[in-house]
Amino acid sequence: MTVARRGDTTVVIDTGGTRTKGAGTDSISVIAPDSTAPFRTPAAGPLGVPVPPGAGLSTPGTPGSSFPPVAPADVAALRAKSPAVPVAGVAKEKLVDSFDDARGASRRHNAIDIVAPRNTPVVATTDGRVLKLHNSTAGGLTIYATDASSRYIFLYGHLDSYRPGLMEGAAVKRGEIIGFVGTTGNANPTGPHLHFAITRSDNVREWWKGTPLNPFLVYRGE
Ligand SMILES: [Zn+2]
Repeated sequence: MTVARRGDTTVVIDTGGTRTKGAGTDSISVIAPDSTAPFRTPAAGPLGVPVPPGAGLSTPGTPGSSFPPVAPADVAALRAKSPAVPVAGVAKEKLVDSFDDARGASRRHNAIDIVAPRNTPVVATTDGRVLKLHNSTAGGLTIYATDASSRYIFLYGHLDSYRPGLMEGAAVKRGEIIGFVGTTGNANPTGPHLHFAITRSDNVREWWKGTPLNPFLVYRGE
């Protein structure tokens, strides 16, 4: 049992049994590493939305921590930021839409994969702030960041490494190098790529929550 204080609300998280680690630590080893399976977000819930390791039973309906609807206006708002393709040197015309691809029996990918050689720089897609540097069995080294409006969360997964010195809470500029492409987590070791996801959030302090939004539509949608 973990009691986390968030603002003036106390959130009680029943981590159950021996799973005593809190959010932000890797406790999803129940998912066997699968070198051929694309990245599944940490301990994805029944709808394929990411749930933090150790908080899978956290209080549903907690004010300010829901999964807000995604509207076409959200895609338009992101597109208006002229977001950078998050892998250096990759043209947006090269992006492939795998957002709706099945991952396992009941999950969707809810992300796009951007193939690039190992150690290709990963750049911040918009101005914003680093929310969390996270390491999990599935996603490997991952950066969660938000945009300047704190309405959207960007997830950069399977990184080979973070940019040296990158800190949680740090401001980042569009195009700034934040990490490097790799195969950490359950990525195929011979297929380096960036797993890139966007969620609509209403409380970026809960960086693992949000409604998936297709990045492909942001870069390529008409
Ligand atoms: Zn992926």
